[in-house]
Amino acid sequence: MKSCCICKRSGKEVMLVECNKETYICTDCIKSIARQIELAEAMQPRPKADTTNEKKNLPKPVEIKAFLDKYVVGQDSAKRYLSVAVYNHYKRVYNNATKGDEVELEKSNIIMVGATGTGKTLLAKTIARMLDVPFAIVDATVLTEAGYVGEDIESILTRLLQAADYNVQQAERGIVFIDEIDKIARKGDNPSITRDVSGEGVQQGLLKLLEGSVVNVPPQGGRKHPDQKMIPVNTQHILYICGGAFDGIEKKIAARLNTRAVGFDTDGKRSDIDRDNLLQYIQPQDLKAFGLIPEIIGRLPILTYLDPLDRKILRRILTEPENAIIKQYVYMFKMDGKQLSFDDDALDFIVDKAVEFKLGARGLRSITESIMMDDMFEFPSSSKKSLRITRQYAEEKFNKANIHRTE
Ligand code: ADP
Repeated sequence: MKSCCICKRSGKEVMLVECNKETYICTDCIKSIARQIELAEAMQPRPKADTTNEKKNLPKPVEIKAFLDKYVVGQDSAKRYLSVAVYNHYKRVYNNATKGDEVELEKSNIIMVGATGTGKTLLAKTIARMLDVPFAIVDATVLTEAGYVGEDIESILTRLLQAADYNVQQAERGIVFIDEIDKIARKGDNPSITRDVSGEGVQQGLLKLLEGSVVNVPPQGGRKHPDQKMIPVNTQHILYICGGAFDGIEKKIAARLNTRAVGFDTDGKRSDIDRDNLLQYIQPQDLKAFGLIPEIIGRLPILTYLDPLDRKILRRILTEPENAIIKQYVYMFKMDGKQLSFDDDALDFIVDKAVEFKLGARGLRSITESIMMDDMFEFPSSSKKSLRITRQYAEEKFNKANIHRTE
């Protein structure tokens, strides 16, 4: 009877592949060997990469911002901070790679505070795309301390390794975006006496990733188990960009601003505080008041904020970025040899609905999608060559789509 030459199971139990005359191997064993080869390769020390060219090609802050401008509308302050931070970070990385360790490198991890859907992830993604480095997005809410349900903190780096195809050296120069960092804040400003599973412990765990250290990473992610082989990853040159909405932090900012000479500058003039956008005054102490531990704040030295998206910005997001939603629809129609156009007031309608439903930029796509659904279905088979979306047409299609959904 045919059986696997490794696990000895028969052809009835597993699928066998003939590898030599009368010798068979099962697909399970083949997969397990392939995984082990992958890991063994990942653990091989690699020759130091020649980074001279990358160093020469490193874009300057003004160029980084110009690139971000192509994809992200507004958010000037965040873009400037990010551009400088990323430039300095990679300058340090490449400097170290070519000259040896004579200069001590300090990390310049970043934290962005801004309401959900204002472009934090988009900014981080766009930077990674520009620099062509591995990029991983992780959600801080799934992390837990070792021993509790959820993913171990090291699994953040598993994602980065996967994004780098297990090329450890590449991963060690990648960017990790940690979303919802505010969700691991400890509740309140005072260290708790009882153990705070979801908050402070995770923050402590994050510390060792944020600073430069060698971390043993489970290659398949999830929870560690004893016989799993680990891949050591040096986090010294990994850039961490953290983002969070920090709901309610405005109150802490306002409280701080109010205690400061009650709104008067030292020269006696009343200082103008823009109460509609308090995030622009954010300081590290506000993050502490919100519940991030000082050690974490210290390792995220670059603090910036995102502006709320007003009607004007939403309107620009619809049409201006290189891959703007409207441009994508026009392009899709063009691929079928059809011409698609939108009236200005039809675009205003989409923005109005996004504002009305408080959907922010995320809503622009779903609203446009519901307006275009019928035409996306019918138009490719129609003999008509062009389609113009007027406001009235947009309203009809949108109302119809919404009625169907509520039925
Ligand atoms: P956040 O991470 O802040 O919650 P995202 O970056 O995921 O928000 O943004 C959600 C979506 O909204 C993105 O896919 C993007 O298309 C759009 N968006 C948000 N802000 C902007 C902006 N400033 N410019 C262009 N698109 C934006």
